[in-house]
Amino acid sequence: MHRLSVLELSRGLAAGDFSSVEITRHFLDRIGSSNDLLNAFITVTEERALEQAAAADQRIKQGTAHALTGIPIAHKDILCVDGVRTTCASKMLESFVAPYSATVVEKLDQVGAVMLGKTNMDEFAMGSSNENSCFGPVRNPWDVSRVPGGSSGGSAAAVAARLVPISTGTDTGGSVRQPAALTGTTGIKPTYGRISRYGMIAFASSLDQAGVIGQSAADAALMLETMCGFDTKDSTSSQQPVEALHNELEGDLKGLRIGVPDVFFAEGLSDGVKAQVEAALNVFESQGATLLQVSLPHLHLSVPAYYVVAPAECSSNLSRFDGVRFGHRCDNPKDLDDLYRRSRSEGFGPEVLRRILTGTFVLSAGYYDAYYKKAQRVRRLINADFQQAFEQVDLIMGPTSPTTAFPLGEKTDDPVSMYLNDIYTVGVSLAGLPAASIPCGLSEGLPVGLHIIGDHFCERKVLSAGHQFQQVTDFHTLRPEGEGA
Ligand code: GLN
Repeated sequence: MHRLSVLELSRGLAAGDFSSVEITRHFLDRIGSSNDLLNAFITVTEERALEQAAAADQRIKQGTAHALTGIPIAHKDILCVDGVRTTCASKMLESFVAPYSATVVEKLDQVGAVMLGKTNMDEFAMGSSNENSCFGPVRNPWDVSRVPGGSSGGSAAAVAARLVPISTGTDTGGSVRQPAALTGTTGIKPTYGRISRYGMIAFASSLDQAGVIGQSAADAALMLETMCGFDTKDSTSSQQPVEALHNELEGDLKGLRIGVPDVFFAEGLSDGVKAQVEAALNVFESQGATLLQVSLPHLHLSVPAYYVVAPAECSSNLSRFDGVRFGHRCDNPKDLDDLYRRSRSEGFGPEVLRRILTGTFVLSAGYYDAYYKKAQRVRRLINADFQQAFEQVDLIMGPTSPTTAFPLGEKTDDPVSMYLNDIYTVGVSLAGLPAASIPCGLSEGLPVGLHIIGDHFCERKVLSAGHQFQQVTDFHTLRPEGEGA
């Protein structure tokens, strides 16, 4: 049953081949037997899931079901779920029970999706390997000695190991796409503002965006479509009408103009990843698409610009965790200053503290112009580069990540080498563009992701290209074997 796609599960439910309670139990059992090893879930909400599944079965019987009614899903533990522990993988929120649900969660509840639990992640979504969780690292089902990528590593590992058919993730600088690449799953982050951020614990508000990690572009399109839309509770959510996605993916690659930036193939890209990505581009070409060189002259500045803007926003957003209103509070504070100081240094892990310190520094009076303002200018230039490229091409493609999954612990002592993992993803986030990662082969037995980037609000074009590719290749159906599978 766990080998079926969401669309197949949905058809099976409608035909009465199985009930939602049955599939929910099946996936809960899989979590029960694999989660100790993979550490993909922080919280499993078994009782809630079985209740939702029973309600979904009723709804299916009554004939009022949506395609996602009765489908097991998981939420990254950054999304508030009413009455459920929501930790952001931080000691700061270890025992926090959300008093309301994120808009995304409500939307998926309303269509009758069944939440199995909350997935592990890098603390406050800061990281590229999922090693920064206070609940311990997530392991990659393809090789349990390796990282699954981050920060939505729990969601990606859970989908790759089929502990759940599909999951939410969030992407501030690549956290949906990079773990999707490293686990052989399909991940999409839509245009900034496409999905409400209400109830999604904030990291860097001008970049944060929810997304989906699933087994195929078609499955991801179905879930994404359900999550999108304007929300009065998030003034940055877009009023642009939501396009139908999952029924609109068929089409033709003939005439599609694909931009291939040379910076995506410059130094730092591993040979194995390069070979698979080039082969994938050839598939597009053989289906009638045209490959065109495009230049993104400021993209090499995206990592430094991102690692100024994101920490700046995080230092402001995370100031709310002060040990007073909610979150971890130290024992026996001497005075208010001691309360803040100790609660925060005990509650936050090292990467979060590093970001808060960096952010506070780049926003401080003497350095604001030199760092923060300059980074914002670079952000505009990067956006302008993409806009210029999209005057010539429909989509831009390249690798999602410079390497395949790396061994646990390999980069934990060297933050800069960890940040360089984000070299292809953060520029897209700074420009607010929609982008997906789809599996495009294996290198030494580990998955490689193809990065598909669209112009603002062109989610459908991105997913449709991914879907067309998945119609003529079977990389998305490859499964990990062995211990973590
Ligand atoms: N790896 C990036 C970071 O550490 C992106 C994280 C994300 O997208 N949440 O900030």
